[in-house]
Amino acid sequence: MAASASQLEMDEGFFEELRAIVGDENVLSEPGELLVYECDGLPQHKHPPLAVVFPNSTEETSEVLEFLAAENVSFAPRGAGTGLSGGALAINRGVVIELARMRKILRVDPENRLAVVQAGLVNAHLSRAVSPYGLYYVPDPSSQPSCTIGGNIAENAGGIHCLKYGTTTDHIVGARVVLSDGSIVDLGNATPGYDLLGVFVGSEGTFGIATEATVKLSPIPPAVRTLLADFLDVDDASRAVSAIIAAGMLPAALEMMDNAIIRAVEQSVFTAGLPIDAQAVLLVELDGAEAGIDNDAQKAEAILLDHGARAVRRAADENERKKLWAARKGAFGAVGRLSPDIMIQDAVVPRSRLPEVLRETYRIASQNNLQLANVFHAGDGNLHPLICFDLRRGDDLEHVRQAGREIMEVCVRAGGSITGEHGVGLDKSSYLPLIFSEDDMEAMMRVRAAFDPSGLCNPGKIIPLPRGCGEARAVATQGLSESLPVFPLPLAEGQGEGVSRARAIPHPRPLPKEEGVIKTANSARLAERISEARVINEFKRIVGAQNLNRLWETELATNSQLASEKERTVVVAPATAGEASEVMRVAGREGLTVIPAGSSTWLDAGNPLNRADLILTTRRLTKIIRHEPADLVATAEAGVTLSEFQKHLAAAGQWLPIDPPDDDKASLGGVVATGLGGPHSLGYGAPRSFVIGMRLVLADGRAIKAGGNVVKNVAGYDLCKLFTGSYGTLGLITELTFKLRPLPAETRSVIASGPRGSLMAAGRRISVQMFPAAVEMLSSRLAEQLGMEARREEYALLFRFAGSSRTVVTQTAQALKVLREDRNHHCATHGEDAKLWRELSTASLQSADDLVWRATMRPTELPAFLDEMAALETDEVSQARLRWHAGLGDGRVRAIGRAPVYHREAVRALERMRQRAENLGGSLIVEKAPLEIKNEIDAWGDFGSASELMRRVKTQFDPENILSPGRMFA
Ligand SMILES: Cc1cc2nc3c(=O)[nH]c(=O)nc-3n(C[C@H](O)[C@H](O)[C@H](O)COP(=O)(O)OP(=O)(O)OC[C@H]3O[C@@H](n4cnc5c(N)ncnc54)[C@H](O)[C@@H]3O)c2cc1C
Repeated sequence: MAASASQLEMDEGFFEELRAIVGDENVLSEPGELLVYECDGLPQHKHPPLAVVFPNSTEETSEVLEFLAAENVSFAPRGAGTGLSGGALAINRGVVIELARMRKILRVDPENRLAVVQAGLVNAHLSRAVSPYGLYYVPDPSSQPSCTIGGNIAENAGGIHCLKYGTTTDHIVGARVVLSDGSIVDLGNATPGYDLLGVFVGSEGTFGIATEATVKLSPIPPAVRTLLADFLDVDDASRAVSAIIAAGMLPAALEMMDNAIIRAVEQSVFTAGLPIDAQAVLLVELDGAEAGIDNDAQKAEAILLDHGARAVRRAADENERKKLWAARKGAFGAVGRLSPDIMIQDAVVPRSRLPEVLRETYRIASQNNLQLANVFHAGDGNLHPLICFDLRRGDDLEHVRQAGREIMEVCVRAGGSITGEHGVGLDKSSYLPLIFSEDDMEAMMRVRAAFDPSGLCNPGKIIPLPRGCGEARAVATQGLSESLPVFPLPLAEGQGEGVSRARAIPHPRPLPKEEGVIKTANSARLAERISEARVINEFKRIVGAQNLNRLWETELATNSQLASEKERTVVVAPATAGEASEVMRVAGREGLTVIPAGSSTWLDAGNPLNRADLILTTRRLTKIIRHEPADLVATAEAGVTLSEFQKHLAAAGQWLPIDPPDDDKASLGGVVATGLGGPHSLGYGAPRSFVIGMRLVLADGRAIKAGGNVVKNVAGYDLCKLFTGSYGTLGLITELTFKLRPLPAETRSVIASGPRGSLMAAGRRISVQMFPAAVEMLSSRLAEQLGMEARREEYALLFRFAGSSRTVVTQTAQALKVLREDRNHHCATHGEDAKLWRELSTASLQSADDLVWRATMRPTELPAFLDEMAALETDEVSQARLRWHAGLGDGRVRAIGRAPVYHREAVRALERMRQRAENLGGSLIVEKAPLEIKNEIDAWGDFGSASELMRRVKTQFDPENILSPGRMFA
């Protein structure tokens, strides 16, 4: 059992061991020294630790955790302790692992816009250090002068500019993590497999300790306009927020402060000349290229005035802009002037519901005789109601908590979440059941058990835990035991009110060694069962006879890799998630393997399936459930095709900015399950950035949800990231919620042809300096296939700008100028360019192309990799008609060809290219290949040091290995 009573009585030998690892000066154990560490930025919770340890390196951290594991002592990672949910507290007298002394910037790579830093680095120090390169680190929580990158990762911290640029999860590409047994793993997008980095971000220190991170840096925008609009009515201000978004604008920041905050700020050192008689002010910041930004600012001003702004003032210069943001960021500090005690809430609501929710927050406060102040990220709908009170005056803390809870319930009823950026921690675990069911939380605990089988890592946080062993009930799943270890936590004061309605979720049992091994399905047993009429009839009863077919009756029978299975495999098409759940339950009971499918265009992705008894397709789940343009959010069932979805969104001037390979057939579920982006990932990000919620059916038939309906949400673990790109090996996705983007007012593309070296150099300059939506280099054969006018042996460069008309026209002219500096380049501009990009993204889907692979690496490594490709292109024996395109800004290559008759040649060529990619720090994945080739080369390559962890995740979700067996793990 973790966090045992023996923790309370450690002898001096225990501390001596710790000192031997990190040095005498790096262990605190005296009660006086420990006082600072008994709480974080939320003083309502206090838990004095047993000791505080300051490791100086990843290796020391690993040694410390190995020692604690041997002693069975729990621990809590800690950065700067600015967290506002009690996350960094070592409950039950555990050990605090303080990262503050690991604060080095290890490497800056300005060309690839990356930095490698230690986790204890203070956020603001990073932007300061890289500013000489014209770069900055985007996530900018108001606490950025003190909070650490590790703390930001753990909380998926947001900031003022995350409306346009996303939260921490969108800016971290790798993390070195020490797990609770002391093992060190590298998580990140350089290796294939599950997105463990995605689910680690926001895990609030319960999965392990991040000791290093590779972060994305972004170019400092060349032009910025900051507007201050003041309103005499809070409702008007909140309506103006939605109006700006609905008008197709996406400001970099959109913040609101109400009258109480304005007054407090104006009396403080942060005074910025805010109008103290205004009921609310909005701070709106637009950024981007200089050309056109004033037009955008005028448009925003007009909308603000139309919606009741009394005046709109533009920051005259950088100095005034800084003052305005200092006022906003200093608001939390300034509220000390309103009352001696403050309870900070953090909740998110759909942006369109802001007016009514804000009204309710004020009503609840006044009903409880409390003062309320509001300062928040309005563009994201991320509210921070501050309940002001004075304990000395006899204000009842219970009263305050009651008001806090009512406010939270209002936000949840409006379709929101219980936390947008401060995390759940210790403070809000009792609220989690307001938005997640027991099954949802139990699924989260499975991931936690995979990362931390011992339960020693930051116990007691996020998920409501049992009040005592007597209340613990086993979770009735394979892989989880009846006698689960529980944490007999004394619940902190104020915690746990919400637990009474929800069953506390025990920590899943650590997997015995043999259970970390992926099982092989028992073919003989399965073959008998699927042919039984009884089972078939049961499926027919669930979905209707007409919605069950034998594979040989369907188009899929021609799919080469399932052809051998066609006699036996059945295709089942449920009409609802409930039916899918039932089918999965029966399949599980009967020991059948299940292949989740959408439109079934890519069932042979990854390694060959061991068996395919049942294809469970979402093709009848075709409803678009909700689309609220003012929220820039839409929800659809997983069987809706991407092209139908885009058509629907376009009618409201919006889109989902992803362009995976798709010839109008790909379903949303399939697109997300494969997680593939295309050329536009450069300008907008990969599909993982846009999935904010999903519903799933797990291998045991449980229907769960992950994420929610709001654009910012850190409640619970980000399972959406885990399931995105999991290729149907962890569950069936039945419904998806996406955040969207406004359709650009204008797009313009240029095709240039010329020699590879000079085109690449020009393309790199354009991608680094000019904010394009996409920049792709095409091999001459691919250019020829797409009908582009490239001369023989010449390559093509295709790039696109998207945005407001003036900006796009200017950017295109600038890019053309760069290209024309070399007389060997021939350029043509395209206004109506959608067809061009569509053809590029569907190039790999031609039925004759049976060999498709992709590689990723740092963009500066592309020239070396493409040199190798060029050699391969001319090698007619190994790669007949090889064509490729490469994203110059994001280091993505997709190669397409026809497999040669002698498949050994193809295997050798693939191995050679994979080796090259790996030597350059990247990876290569075989997307599509004839079975003879796939039988000889692993589709994924090396999963890296996280391989074992991925297997543990797979085993937690699919202990019998019935979901797409063999596809990812042999
Ligand atoms: C005045 C003020 C303003 C704030 N404004 C914002 C804001 O605008 N946006 C926002 O998102 N948050 C904000 N916060 C909350 C807080 O600053 C952030 O959550 C921040 O990311 C915490 O960083 P930290 O280094 O202080 O982490 P800590 O408070 O030390 O820890 C927070 C959590 O992260 C875990 N943790 C810390 N380091 C690591 C690590 N290396 N590996 C694994 N787990 C780790 C801890 O166990 C804990 O669960 C604000 C807080 C204050 C006090």
